[in-house]
Amino acid sequence: MYHKVTPQIVDALRAIVGEQNVRTDGEALEKYAHDETVGLWAQPEVVVFVRSAQEVAEIFRLATRERIPITPRGAGYGLSGGAVPLFGGIVLSTEKMNRILEIDPQNLMVTVEPGVITGDLHRAVEAEGLFYPPDPASLDSCTIGGNIAEGAGGPRAVKYGTTKDYVCGLEAVLPSGDIITCGGKLVKNVTGYNLIQLLVGSEGTLAVVTQIILRLLPLPKFRVDLLVPYDDFQAAADTVSDIIAARILPATIEFMEQDSIRAAERLLQKTVPYDDAAAHLLIQLDGNRQEAVDADMEAVGEICLAHGARDVLVAKDTRTRDRLWEARRAIVDALKHESPMNHMEDVVVPRAEIPALLRGIKEIARRHSVRIVCFGHAGDGNVHVNALKDAMPEGEWHALVPVLSEEIYRLTLSLGGTITGEHGIGATRRRYLPMALDPAQIALMRGIKELFDPYHILNPGKIFP
Ligand SMILES: Cc1cc2nc3c(=O)[nH]c(=O)nc-3n(C[C@H](O)[C@H](O)[C@H](O)COP(=O)(O)OP(=O)(O)OC[C@H]3O[C@@H](n4cnc5c(N)ncnc54)[C@H](O)[C@@H]3O)c2cc1C
Repeated sequence: MYHKVTPQIVDALRAIVGEQNVRTDGEALEKYAHDETVGLWAQPEVVVFVRSAQEVAEIFRLATRERIPITPRGAGYGLSGGAVPLFGGIVLSTEKMNRILEIDPQNLMVTVEPGVITGDLHRAVEAEGLFYPPDPASLDSCTIGGNIAEGAGGPRAVKYGTTKDYVCGLEAVLPSGDIITCGGKLVKNVTGYNLIQLLVGSEGTLAVVTQIILRLLPLPKFRVDLLVPYDDFQAAADTVSDIIAARILPATIEFMEQDSIRAAERLLQKTVPYDDAAAHLLIQLDGNRQEAVDADMEAVGEICLAHGARDVLVAKDTRTRDRLWEARRAIVDALKHESPMNHMEDVVVPRAEIPALLRGIKEIARRHSVRIVCFGHAGDGNVHVNALKDAMPEGEWHALVPVLSEEIYRLTLSLGGTITGEHGIGATRRRYLPMALDPAQIALMRGIKELFDPYHILNPGKIFP
């Protein structure tokens, strides 16, 4: 179906991007064969580092002519195998397109290349008193291009939304080699179909994004973080619904079960207060008036205590705050460390259904005698569900994983939710897409893919069942 990358094609790639930006050595092919998805691996034939839209366009023309698949890649921090080149061919890395081109305080916009690391963007705009809210826990490693392609979210989605809510302009290269520019530094824009939002979350299957204009907010002046331990995980889940019902909108409400906290402690060699608690909430409140933030803090504290919280620990200084968030952000790695074979789901439900979701998941774990650890963005209904193999025999584990996925998806869908909130369908969830979308929607999506990529050279093997 696809052709192999020949030495002539490698030479043609070198002519486009320069000798130093093409790699075929074993070390590179190994490094770019995987992302952060457990157990998924496929080696590319060549890795190409691009620096401009024009280079991407030339590579697309070459790949179309020669029928070579292209897999775009940011930092390879994805959790659904989106950057894994399932059919070999070219991995097209944007890591050298890492310039913040302009911070525009008058229009509250920033223009970046796709390879900018999300945390670097945060620091750059915050130094100017500005704020880019989307904050995936992987922010010190992942790229803005990867965030756009996955529609990434993060803890602050409760109050501030996800990546999709900040993208005002995109430059993208289509598989035909055409370069398109959508939107601009515009808060309003209804000119034609919304191609920006079509590309956001398209998981690198429609186009390669080469420049991005993002909306910024003024940086909130006051912030406080609360760590709240509970003896009963259900009480923590119930608290989330009650905070929202009280008309308080925290910037984050993160949920962490005891096993996830303990795993983070072991990885970091640090302790978290009340680590014997069944679950913790990590709540962040922010605003521009100290009195308003304090009033919300009082009210939230009371709701937590009314639900049986053991304590409400307040972190006002950066050091204490960073310690709490370090533990939260280490959980994915810590669970991998704990049980190298593990399986993560990323389901999302209407937030009021969080207690029912967690109850159902505990029941699934009990029925299959498997350890399932839950943590994640309880405030927006997005829970990461981690099944750990532990000492289970490997054969039994491999047979169990698809059964677990199906049962967790069925539960989620029955609660009005869906199968992924932020990690994407990618390679790992595509067989389950028909559980979540009806045939007419999948047919529409296939039609769109066909229109963008008639020769199926862009990121084949992703999204579609
Ligand atoms: C520890 C950990 C914590 C995480 N926490 C979160 C979280 O809180 N929230 C969240 O949403 N995700 C989270 N993730 C998942 C992941 O970090 C995000 O999906 C992130 O957006 C991936 O960015 P990346 O640069 O690593 O992309 P990659 O993994 O390199 O690529 C992801 C997808 O984007 C495509 N792509 C990359 N760049 C482009 C481009 N320029 N144009 C077109 N397509 C492109 C790729 O083809 C692929 O399909 C976490 C991952 C880890 C390992």
